[in-house]
Amino acid sequence: MKIPLRQYVNLLFRYLKPYWRWAMLLGVLLLGSISLQLVNPQITRYFIDAAQTGRDAQSLVWAALLFLGVALVQQVVGVTAAYVSENVGWLTTNDLRTDLAAHCLRLDMSFHNAHTPGEMIERIDGDVTALSNFFSQFVIQIVGNALLLAGILILLYQVDWRVGLALSAFVLAALVVLVRLRHIGVPFWTAERQASADLFGFLEERLAGTEDIRANGAQAYVMRHFYRLMRALMHQTLKAGLVVNFLFSVMLLLFAVGNAAALALGGYLFFTGTLTIGTVYLVYFYTNMLMRPIDQISQQIQELQRAGAGITRVRELLFTRPQIRDSGTIGLPAGPLVVDFQDVSFSYKEQEVVLDDLTFHLRPGTVLGLLGRTGSGKSTLTRLIFRLYDPDQGVVCLGHDGALTDLRQVPLIDLRQHVGIVTQEVQLFQASVRDNLTFFDDRVSDERIRGAIQELGLDPWLQSLPEGLDTELESGGGGLSAGEAQLLAFTRILLHDPGLVILDEASSRLDPATEHLIERAVERLVQDRTAIIVAHRLGTVQRADEIMILEHGRISEHGPRQVLVNDPTSRFYGLLQTGLEEVLA
Ligand code: ATP
Ligand code: MG
Repeated sequence: MKIPLRQYVNLLFRYLKPYWRWAMLLGVLLLGSISLQLVNPQITRYFIDAAQTGRDAQSLVWAALLFLGVALVQQVVGVTAAYVSENVGWLTTNDLRTDLAAHCLRLDMSFHNAHTPGEMIERIDGDVTALSNFFSQFVIQIVGNALLLAGILILLYQVDWRVGLALSAFVLAALVVLVRLRHIGVPFWTAERQASADLFGFLEERLAGTEDIRANGAQAYVMRHFYRLMRALMHQTLKAGLVVNFLFSVMLLLFAVGNAAALALGGYLFFTGTLTIGTVYLVYFYTNMLMRPIDQISQQIQELQRAGAGITRVRELLFTRPQIRDSGTIGLPAGPLVVDFQDVSFSYKEQEVVLDDLTFHLRPGTVLGLLGRTGSGKSTLTRLIFRLYDPDQGVVCLGHDGALTDLRQVPLIDLRQHVGIVTQEVQLFQASVRDNLTFFDDRVSDERIRGAIQELGLDPWLQSLPEGLDTELESGGGGLSAGEAQLLAFTRILLHDPGLVILDEASSRLDPATEHLIERAVERLVQDRTAIIVAHRLGTVQRADEIMILEHGRISEHGPRQVLVNDPTSRFYGLLQTGLEEVLA
């Protein structure tokens, strides 16, 4: 695999920079722990040789104490290094996770349509976790262990050049074999991860759809699919596990060969009288010590390959630019807004025209009832006003009469303050009603919230909640009907006090009590505001000043409601006769 080194270095510097003190400390600790490993064998050699030559007991005791002391310090340094390393790893990768999450929130809707939540989790967390080792350890481990290897080999050369040469050859051979072997393992781990991602993607979707799965009696199908995915995961894990074990055995075998060579050579040199028994022990011990850096280096090289895939994907994501550019500078005026569409066409995908050359104009304070069959493009039209998408052709403008501004020239934050939208499926969060209303903004006082609720005539609803504003909602709006969730969203909007409200009514049927509340709330909400109501109910249609009927993305009728109601040739008149709700709901 080709390794884009420069990208690695850039990323490393960018995220390590704020924590350079920690990184320095980690470097010192790791190098310290590595070099301390070299000390104790020297003490042992002294001990053995001193004991053999019959030196006094006291120096032996001192040597033993020194040995214990060094071992203890080594452990303390090791534990501290592990702590600092985890810390650096998490600090840096959390920054990266934050950047990625914030970046994803800014990306276009079309990006999110094309990527599942499971995939995003894998990108923002999975890939980044794989980078943690790279951030905290890679450089130091490679450099440190290479130094340790060199140190040991130099010491061995000092003992005897033949020993040094033999073990240098061993180190080289072992490194080559291990790096090759680990490379073989990579596809197995990748396959295992993919299998696990598949399983979790499946689970997430099915658990979210429990209600429909039960309603349709699809449990058996789901379970069968589940077994299939679990079996796949089991097979992949088995294979990957076998590869790991095989690698481990090869490594043990390699090290056994190294040990045998060191012992044979040491024994030979002892019998020819070149080495003392202490030195033979030293050679044997150092040979054993070679194993750790060899293992570490080959492991780091493997980690680098794994991080490589992550880095490539992370950078790809970071460099995905939103097509909706937030470069506008013209603010919108306060008060009811004018809405103006000029020759607007739009499609989500090539060749599937969803909005086809729409042109219309709404005076400030008008309430527009938007009607049309399912799929006619009503929600899409509202998304363009909120600039979740930009039109392919034409311009969408907001503003005052005589001072219209193309939405592309309005800062997004300004736009979203002046336009309030209640979508068909309101997203609620697992939090209190208060937090759901204010979007976790503590600055909004309870009085203001209660004021808004009261203004919308939703007191009965608030009183029906067991713990008032502190009532905890379940995630995904569980526990609230679609209508109730919309009532909550109305209050959200009123707290913003926008000049234009867009209401995309839930198409599900409501109980009469909620319906009544909604109608009253809509009446208050649209007072002194321009409003676009995608209506599925006769009650809300009757609030409208103007009616617009969409058909296959085109305007098939647009005019004042009073005029259309009294014109037997109009489509709206026809709709009212055939029963509006039968057609629209
Ligand atoms: P409903 O009354 O059911 O809410 P609608 O009038 O709001 O319908 P839209 O949601 O605007 O209809 O959809 C218009 C067309 O665009 C439909 O053909 C739909 O399949 C398509 N569409 C909607 N959202 C997307 C999307 N995110 N990606 C691709 N196509 C989409
Ligand atoms: Mg819709």
